[in-house]
Amino acid sequence: MACKRVEMPVIRFAILAMLALLTGCSPTSVELGREAMTSTTTTTSTSTTSVPPSTTTTSTSTTTTTPTTTVPAVLPELQFDEAGVPLNGQSNGVLVSDTGWVLPILSGLDGGRHRVWTPCGRQADVAGGEVITRADFVLDPGHGGSEPGAVGRGGLAEKDLNLAVGTKIRDALVGAGYSVVMTRETDVRVPIVTRAEIGRALDPVAFLSVHFNAGTDVRSATPGTEMYHQIKNADSKRLAGLLYEETRAVLDQFDVGWVALNDAGATFRPNREGDDYYGVLRRPTPVLSVLLEFAYLSNPAEEELVSDPAVQDELANAVLIAVERFLETDDPGSGFIDDPIFRGFGPSGAGRTDGCTDPTLE
Ligand SMILES: [Zn+2]
Repeated sequence: MACKRVEMPVIRFAILAMLALLTGCSPTSVELGREAMTSTTTTTSTSTTSVPPSTTTTSTSTTTTTPTTTVPAVLPELQFDEAGVPLNGQSNGVLVSDTGWVLPILSGLDGGRHRVWTPCGRQADVAGGEVITRADFVLDPGHGGSEPGAVGRGGLAEKDLNLAVGTKIRDALVGAGYSVVMTRETDVRVPIVTRAEIGRALDPVAFLSVHFNAGTDVRSATPGTEMYHQIKNADSKRLAGLLYEETRAVLDQFDVGWVALNDAGATFRPNREGDDYYGVLRRPTPVLSVLLEFAYLSNPAEEELVSDPAVQDELANAVLIAVERFLETDDPGSGFIDDPIFRGFGPSGAGRTDGCTDPTLE
């Protein structure tokens, strides 16, 4: 029997110990943030800044602060690929700047300063801020700023809907005791390469990229929910299957004129190299990542449905339930599409940062 590797909340230690006795497997436990809820933690609040924070953070119960960085003899320099895009996996922890941005940390510096990865994927040395060393979940509301994503015929922009639902998911997870960091909390553009690096820097249980879809008018009796998992990560696939089950259970209650692809489900899309096509899945690797496409914003009936805050609440709660089932059971999930229709390789997830202007960081 293979020992299960999935991380469990520490408060379930008794159950884990029993399981260990039964299976001969020792629980490997990543410490989720539930305990932090009851202890004193530093709360990062964007409302403390007088300037509207250009991005991000949240984290109520996050494993926070106290910059205890050792300054290395040779300071690291941000490394780029041949296309000039920074390579993911260079940071450790994030600095939440005094202006509210979440900045992957390359190194500590003298005087409590930090060398960071800026939102536009450049290097900067920044004073102030608070350090977060890890989070249970990184939530990534897709698009933002000059990138609206899909726009419904009623005028609802995907970037706004993603942020509304992403914030509700955060609240649900934090309410259940998990620590969460968001890649953006306001209407700003953050390049995918930087979003992914925030995931890499915080080593969460999962990086969840929140989206709504566009692109088909094919009528369907059932919702066209798509949950994309990482091709080479079985845990990502199982979580996608659980997210699919739980969000479908919410949407199936409603009888609207759905649209869907024939092969909608818990699915994947390869690139030319056989790796994940989508940057939000490929770039956070080895961090488990899922790309959530709840429903079709391009379909007016669905646009109206998902505009309803009560439906958004239900979707957020469905994500929480899926996550809890992922952590606490062996449920396999469902809706898996093992042979998705080939839709071309195309350009995606290049991570380009052209035309990106960095905000004020201190
Ligand atoms: Zn999107």
